[in-house]
Amino acid sequence: MTRKQTLARARPRNTFLATLGAATIAALACTAPSTAQTQAEPGQPGVPYKDMPALAPIGVRVDHYLPVHGPAAPPVDPAKGYRLQDLGTGLYLVTDNAYQSMFLVYETGVVVVDAPPGYSAKIRQAIAEVTDRPITHVIYSHSHIDHIGGVTDLGGHPTIIAHEETQRLLVRAKDPKRPPPMVVFKDRYVLKVGSQTLELSYPGVAHEPGNIFIYAPRQKTLMVIDVVFPGWMPWRRWALAQDVPGYFAQVAEIDRVPFETLVGGHVDRVGTHDDVRVQLEFMNDVKAAATTALKSTALGGELADRDKANPWAVFDNYIDRVVVQCVNAVTPKWQSRLAGYDVYIWDQCYAMEQSLRID
Ligand SMILES: [Zn+2]
Repeated sequence: MTRKQTLARARPRNTFLATLGAATIAALACTAPSTAQTQAEPGQPGVPYKDMPALAPIGVRVDHYLPVHGPAAPPVDPAKGYRLQDLGTGLYLVTDNAYQSMFLVYETGVVVVDAPPGYSAKIRQAIAEVTDRPITHVIYSHSHIDHIGGVTDLGGHPTIIAHEETQRLLVRAKDPKRPPPMVVFKDRYVLKVGSQTLELSYPGVAHEPGNIFIYAPRQKTLMVIDVVFPGWMPWRRWALAQDVPGYFAQVAEIDRVPFETLVGGHVDRVGTHDDVRVQLEFMNDVKAAATTALKSTALGGELADRDKANPWAVFDNYIDRVVVQCVNAVTPKWQSRLAGYDVYIWDQCYAMEQSLRID
């Protein structure tokens, strides 16, 4: 049995296979269907619908993920637990090669932007590598705990700055690990400290309400978290974008900022305009593929008669067939261009077809 056939038969959605363990699925997949079953209508166990997937769908893992290519990132010293990267003129990246934050040194202090809890206890040590000045300000990129939940590890009583939507979300969260900001803004805020400047602006909702652009003009560095993933497939469902059309617009907006270094908050390196354009091209390819699939797919087409009285099944089958077309259309061009492509391409196509149908 080929990998493709195995995948087709192990398809879990809208079949009873979804409730079975991997071993059972594997056993079923290796049971050759009888001739009678093969001629039976698609949708019966062992009889795949037409154009079933070449990549493992959500909930199915066949044997391995696609290999991850690309240049190796500078390693993180395990004794330190972080890597410090000089972005120029007093601006530094702190990362564990999975999360990214920054700090900016000025004449009498330090501004920290984000404190991911995975290494927040080491941020003061990272700062001490370059200065003994105190942390006077903290900027939250957005409210999510995985990026700011280590802020109390920074100590002291820094002034916390964020967007007003981030304040609203943090007041609601009542999380002692994420104290709400004392200084908020609506559209734009310029933090001038000594000879250093950070320009904060709000581009509207994409990933999450309150997620801001943080631009360091002297260093030509733009930080926008959870939107662009240099060299990688975006995190699942367009990085959990709460507004998918807003997310598409925001990636294009990032490309219009005259930065030289992009800090995206994740993966093992900073980004460039080329990275933004590659991601945008990929996103537009997925959008075009999902648009085509929605137009060419009939609701209820190819569905077994006994399932047609079940509207949930009718739509599940329809959406699955749209998404299978979407995945199959973009895979040849992109599977070797984005690291982790196979991990989230199904999520991206599901999020895309949903957005195109209702947004
Ligand atoms: Zn986030």
